Amino acid sequence: MALSAVIAGKEDKLLQKDDGHPSHSYFEQKKVELNILANYEKLKEDSDVFSHIKLYKSKHLSYLKKAMQHLSASYECLDASRPWLCFWITHSLELLQEPIPEEICERIGQFLDKCQNHEEGGFGGGPDQLPHLAPTYAAVCSLCILGRYWKGAYDIINRQKLAEFLTKRRMDDGSFTMHKDGEVDIRGAYCAVVSARLSNVFTKEMFAGTADWLAKCQTYEGGFAGLPGLEAHGGYTYCGYASLALLGQEQKIDLKRLLKWTAFRQMKLEGGFQGRTNKLVDGCYSFWQGALFPIIHSILQMYSDENISQEKWMFDQTALEQYVLVNCQCANGGLRDKPSKGRDLYHTCYCLSGLSIAEHFIGDGVSRSEIFGGSRNLLKPIHPIFNVCIDSAEDALNHFKHLPVPTVIL
Ligand SMILES: [Zn+2]
Repeated sequence: MALSAVIAGKEDKLLQKDDGHPSHSYFEQKKVELNILANYEKLKEDSDVFSHIKLYKSKHLSYLKKAMQHLSASYECLDASRPWLCFWITHSLELLQEPIPEEICERIGQFLDKCQNHEEGGFGGGPDQLPHLAPTYAAVCSLCILGRYWKGAYDIINRQKLAEFLTKRRMDDGSFTMHKDGEVDIRGAYCAVVSARLSNVFTKEMFAGTADWLAKCQTYEGGFAGLPGLEAHGGYTYCGYASLALLGQEQKIDLKRLLKWTAFRQMKLEGGFQGRTNKLVDGCYSFWQGALFPIIHSILQMYSDENISQEKWMFDQTALEQYVLVNCQCANGGLRDKPSKGRDLYHTCYCLSGLSIAEHFIGDGVSRSEIFGGSRNLLKPIHPIFNVCIDSAEDALNHFKHLPVPTVIL
């Protein structure tokens, strides 16, 4: 489609609704829309540029590789999230099809081992920090990514202790606390079930009652909240439904309502997703919302739903590709929430993860023929439930399936 037609289409979608009582969020939304239109107008100056939109692959790679060696002071606040930094970087590199040298893998692996708590099990946000489910997820996924290049990565996970740590996080109602004496929320269940499945320490007892608790987090809107009774949110919805899929209990919720809520989170003009009703677009939801579609699709397929497409997901994939490639890339590498924001490693990881979902259908590794900007923009396909690339997930699952599931006696 020509750039002028895309701009005309977007102008038509400019927020029309004005009941004479504009709110703060109305003006914020308008600002984002005008920013995005201005972005497309800039491209118009070069009539050819739209068809040549490209992923700034080499810029992103140098941004990521630099971050592996040195981080700016602005990352100081993430001192308790250091395994996350490893995950965001290693996953972005695998998405960009960039091999990670063995010695780098070894260094990252040794660092993650320092974050591992060999008494309590699980991983903390940094060396000698309290083990916590979120960095445990990030560390396990990072090690599964590194395992493709360095087999020693898998052995770093202390599976017996991990199984004990996960078991201790489960509450009587099936929910999970993020850490000892910590808060309960839906992220806990997701981080626990992914860590358990990937490393083959999963048992039914470890997740007794979890699916029923997760189902209580679905709200009247259709998405999931962090806890029963709160507001539906993209990140929590992803955690909730991906967990149910991993538990094989996806029938416990209202799927149609979930699909409707998720589909309506794609923004008409922007093409990207918002995290909640009446919020602004944000590049990271390209993954949190976008990845729900392949999961929902495969569940519907499992139930032999005849209406399911054999060609595309149930959202506008090209519009999402355009949002990420035109609006979220920074010229000097790294990706961002939206044009008015700066780049960071979190948004780099999740914008790329969402872009990969938009590029690939059914995770078959075959790109759509009409991939926006051409095949040079192609990323590796991801496993939508774990959010590591499919080959990393398969290699890790194959490796750990030969090891016995630890017995936990507390
Ligand atoms: Zn974001």
